[in-house]
Amino acid sequence: MRFPEYIAKQLLAQQGITIPRSRVYSQEMDLHEMWSDLTKDGTQPGIIVKAQVLTGGRGKAGGVKLVRNESDLKATCDTILAMTIKKEKVMGLLFEELLQIDREIYISIALDRKQRKPIIMLSCDGGMDIETVASNTPERIMKMPLTEASCLRNWQLRELIAFAQIPQECKDSFANVCRKLALLFHAKNCSLVEINPLVITIQGQIIAADAKLVTDDNATSGKDIAAEFAYMSPEEDPMDKEAAQAKLNFVRLDGTIGCMVNGAGLAMATMDALLMSGASPANFLDIGGGAKVEQVSAALDIISRTPGVKSVFINIFGGIVRCDMVAQGLLDALKLHPEWSLPIVVRLAGTNETEARKLLAQHPKFNLAASMSDGAKKAVELSKA
Ligand code: GDP
Ligand code: MN
Repeated sequence: MRFPEYIAKQLLAQQGITIPRSRVYSQEMDLHEMWSDLTKDGTQPGIIVKAQVLTGGRGKAGGVKLVRNESDLKATCDTILAMTIKKEKVMGLLFEELLQIDREIYISIALDRKQRKPIIMLSCDGGMDIETVASNTPERIMKMPLTEASCLRNWQLRELIAFAQIPQECKDSFANVCRKLALLFHAKNCSLVEINPLVITIQGQIIAADAKLVTDDNATSGKDIAAEFAYMSPEEDPMDKEAAQAKLNFVRLDGTIGCMVNGAGLAMATMDALLMSGASPANFLDIGGGAKVEQVSAALDIISRTPGVKSVFINIFGGIVRCDMVAQGLLDALKLHPEWSLPIVVRLAGTNETEARKLLAQHPKFNLAASMSDGAKKAVELSKA
């Protein structure tokens, strides 16, 4: 789960890393009061207004603006709030005090899947797009694996300090940032924490001027963070949510044939069968072992509302689940939803399949298939009809 900058920064601050003084925009807020507060100890007036989006490259797209005069503030807010950056609507604004920047450093910890370890990455080219640095001047990035999950050894800190040429008076606070970043990475089950830029100010302070945080999707930490900050991820597809509530394993794809299958292995094989018959699946859907009417109904309902779906292929293997029960579930679901207009192909095999076929044969809606490949072919034909 990805989090916007303002949340990532709060998590850094909780860990003890210095962040700029800031305010999150709300419609009711007093902009003048905010301006006075954030500019009160600046030598030069001004604040930074930052679009809150999950994508990178916001600065280049015009989503980070320096406002020097309070009279320009309202207009800048309106402009940025109306922006769409890389197809993402701006979800909010973060106001920050202006920093007097001497140097910008890049630092991150990411899970390296090849090495199966978190690695810490450091570069003196902070503020820039790190992918560009990595491809043009890879020698300007230091990568060091973390041998212990949440702990940086002193020798590692010394190497990082030397590589980034951290001045003597900042060494302790820089080492502190590195240590705390590793602790945060570990504590929140992250796949990435990034500070770009980590700023050294003219006054010799080390401040996280930008932050990114991604938690592992298999960890519960993402949900905990979301709850703590009352945050609703804009990424969350409403259909994914519905599917999760109905306890379905559902992944949206971009093909034309909706799939409803029991068992993940069979669901994958079904997708292959469709591809071999000349069309792509619109989803991966494993309804699980039970296949009760509620689940069958919820699954068909989600499929029927998926844009681009032209036909449905239901492929059930009755091992523990009885095929006649699934068939009854399908009939009941159809009664509840007379509006379903998509052609439906059903292949049922295994326990009580004869009874199941008898049940479904009474209803003209269902096209019965003799085998999985026959079903895939029929579903593809109907999707093109
Ligand atoms: P990004 O473009 O989305 O990565 O946004 P950043 O927060 O990293 O800001 C982009 C750049 O703005 C930084 O790399 C700095 O060079 C520049 N900048 C100049 N003054 C400031 C300041 O006071 N605060 C911040 N955050 N950035 C500043
Ligand atoms: Mn940045």
